[in-house]
Amino acid sequence: MIDAKDLKTRREEIARNIANRNMKVDIDGIIALQEQRLALMQETENLRSDRNENARKMKQKLSQDERLILIEEGKAIKERIASLETGLETVEARYQEGLRSIPNFAHPDAPVGKEESDSTVMKHVGIPPVFAFKPLDHVQLGEKLDLIDFETATKVSGPKFYYIKNQGVLLQMGLERYALDIVMKHGFTPFITPDVAKDEILQGIGFNPRGAESNIYALEGTGTSLVGTAEITLGGYYSGEILDKANLPLKLAGLSHCFRREAGGAGQYSKGLYRVHQFSKLEMFIFCLPEESDVFHARLLAIEEDIFSGLGLAYRVLDTCTGDLGAPAYRKFDIEAWMPGRGENGEYGEVTSTSNCTDYQARNLGIRYRDDDGKLQFVHMLNGTAVAISRALVAILENYQNEDGSVTIPEKLIPYVGFSVIPAIP
Ligand code: AMP
Repeated sequence: MIDAKDLKTRREEIARNIANRNMKVDIDGIIALQEQRLALMQETENLRSDRNENARKMKQKLSQDERLILIEEGKAIKERIASLETGLETVEARYQEGLRSIPNFAHPDAPVGKEESDSTVMKHVGIPPVFAFKPLDHVQLGEKLDLIDFETATKVSGPKFYYIKNQGVLLQMGLERYALDIVMKHGFTPFITPDVAKDEILQGIGFNPRGAESNIYALEGTGTSLVGTAEITLGGYYSGEILDKANLPLKLAGLSHCFRREAGGAGQYSKGLYRVHQFSKLEMFIFCLPEESDVFHARLLAIEEDIFSGLGLAYRVLDTCTGDLGAPAYRKFDIEAWMPGRGENGEYGEVTSTSNCTDYQARNLGIRYRDDDGKLQFVHMLNGTAVAISRALVAILENYQNEDGSVTIPEKLIPYVGFSVIPAIP
């Protein structure tokens, strides 16, 4: 969440930022709750000192009448405090909820806009392949090569699930290991993270585990949910801790399953593996000093580019517009790889996303360090996709298909998968 102190002092800036993000938040309602909360706290405080005064007087020598009056007065104060405390609890909960609904500030250079098309294309890398035949999409390829089984998964688990089979399994594992080697080379500590997290951690990262709109599968009656990304489990790793400044930046990379409800995510652009309920992902995460977060954000993007250019895929990089940032991100860069089976004649499709969330998540989760003056400060937190397997599979299968129905393995992946081609099945 943002700093509550900014609510009044930066009110106009907050309102503009909410409008730029295409969100609706009642800032004045939250400011009113802030004032109400303060007034209730002050009144309770005053009554507590009245109660102490009353108790002090009771210890003095008193007549019977004076004592009775003081007893009555003490009872009235006690009842009033209890009622104020109940009121304060309700106001506090609504105030905290309101504060959480205010998005992070946006980087001054983030393009302002509401539509996906308002994002700026920063660069194009590589040239999409030209096929001398009509290329298939990954669903057709996956079926013909017996790599992906959507039909049985629909029977067993429901739509938007899939089995990966045969060389597909080795390709997934090879991709994970290929990306892991690159992030480890960049100093990230590898993790396999839990696939379940407490709702308070999800909320701290900026996910809403409940509600019809939520993309999260809540585990009823447990106070936990399935994670939609290892950003949640990596971001929560140091929750409530004071980090040693000398150890910053801390760089973690977590492999996890990701579960997403993706309600309403149907249609041509979501087909096959592109938008599914479960996929595997290697996620990078950085905890750093505030003054270093822009630099580390650029580095996360550079690592993602390293991974995707290494796969020989044509891609473009987007500077995400304010309307698509989501609440926690201050700035977000996406990589979109060329996918020949997307749309009519191929299109770019998102394969990675990296966000600088500044101190927004750290404030929720209480992750701090001590500056040189000994003052506690919030760290900055950043995340980035190293590889999201199902989208990487879409890109590899569709870009590396051959006329005879086989699929060539990108050169750098061959040592990781142990073969150079997935042969066509006659
Ligand atoms: P996000 O955490 O939403 O930024 O997503 C990170 C990456 O995961 C995206 O760039 C996609 O490559 C991939 N991804 C997101 N949602 C899905 C999904 N429902 N199915 C498959 N891959 C996804």
